[in-house]
Amino acid sequence: MNKKKSNTNKNKKITAEKPGKAIFDEMESAVQSYARAFPEIFVHASGARIRTREGREYIDFLAGAGSLNYGHNNLHLQEALIDYIQSGGITHSLDFHTEAKEDFLHTFRDLILKPRGMEYVVQFTGPTGANAVEAALKIARKVKNRTQIIAFTNGFHGVTTGALAATGNAYHRGGAGMPLSGVIRMPYEGYMEDMDTIAYMERLLSDASSGIDLPAAVLVETVQGEGGLTAASATWLRALQKLCRKYDMLLIVDDIQAGCGRTGSFFSFEGMGISPDIITLSKSLSGYGLPFAVTLFKPEHDQWKPGEHNGTFRGNNHAFVTATAALRRYWHNDSFAKAVKRKGDLVAARISEIISAYPEGFLSPRGRGMMRGIVCPNGDIAGDITKYAFEKGLIVETSGADGEVVKCLCPLTISEEDLQKGWDILESGFHQILEEQIPNRSQKAA
Ligand code: PLP
Repeated sequence: MNKKKSNTNKNKKITAEKPGKAIFDEMESAVQSYARAFPEIFVHASGARIRTREGREYIDFLAGAGSLNYGHNNLHLQEALIDYIQSGGITHSLDFHTEAKEDFLHTFRDLILKPRGMEYVVQFTGPTGANAVEAALKIARKVKNRTQIIAFTNGFHGVTTGALAATGNAYHRGGAGMPLSGVIRMPYEGYMEDMDTIAYMERLLSDASSGIDLPAAVLVETVQGEGGLTAASATWLRALQKLCRKYDMLLIVDDIQAGCGRTGSFFSFEGMGISPDIITLSKSLSGYGLPFAVTLFKPEHDQWKPGEHNGTFRGNNHAFVTATAALRRYWHNDSFAKAVKRKGDLVAARISEIISAYPEGFLSPRGRGMMRGIVCPNGDIAGDITKYAFEKGLIVETSGADGEVVKCLCPLTISEEDLQKGWDILESGFHQILEEQIPNRSQKAA
């Protein structure tokens, strides 16, 4: 019970004693994950670079799991935040009206929603992605007065129990310690070769004897961030929306990882011909790594009673300030989006180059925009490649059911030089590991 309390002092103690990593082993729960893959003590970060206490610098292709689209300590956002703090601006405000929130709402409406012809109500949820998903599921169930939600194979929506029920991964689900209910699992696009997964869903929904209760909503990621970077096609998403309309289900797009510019547009579904009823955003919404999440829904679905869904930390004004600064800096015109698309093309080209060094089908590309990766034959190989990368100065993670996808999620603001350097490391990692594991597999080496 006291663990959290003790942990609040840990940074101070470490700085004073500089005892290596012992304090983490002594004090911190075994639940640690990223810290196991990247076992260093980090002290400084700027842009796409992060530095350890010993002064070793890494290029960061993880970027706070997609929370740092504008880079670490982005100076434009930092300046706005420092000014705000120095002016005595409010930090915590529950759901009070504050000037910082007012600025955010104006900016979000004028730079994001209006130019895209989108009309949505903003719900400030608790500040994590899972909070926004919980709110989305609850409002959908309330609006439709039904329990079930369709979620997809390999979907990841967070680890609080409501969101976890919609998450596919068995390892995470296993942590619940209770039955996870209220979700019907359906196959994502491409889950089975040559299978029309929309036709499959339609067959089940239209058959009174299929055993499927009519769901309230469908919850989908347009690119499955944690599930292995499978990207849905616009055709599939449009067909999914049509299915939702036909069977009176709400369409929820979880844009927590794919949104905020990651795929090259602010929302990941732009230009795809869909208009979700509910959208979740978090991760890079504050732009500075500060916790912040919202659930957006069409005004007719705003059926909450006052305070019915609440949370102490819905008023993180520092996050409102940096989010506003990020929108003003990067989304006042389309030049940032264009730059992201160009970098996404560059990443795609580097991926093709690596893949083409091996027999067809041995490695394959996944993802879209600046959310791309390479599928390896298994998770061990992908893990060895990311380990090699870390030794060479690059932080990069894996995703997918078995961790078989090497996933590049670098800041969108990364310089082309760092982007190329990171991919140089990855390229040599692929060749090195694959040559060690499967001699003569590489055509180049053969
Ligand atoms: N939804 C998606 C698509 C995610 O990628 C994540 C986290 O990776 C979440 C929800 C959960 O967000 P959080 O970890 O902030 O609760």
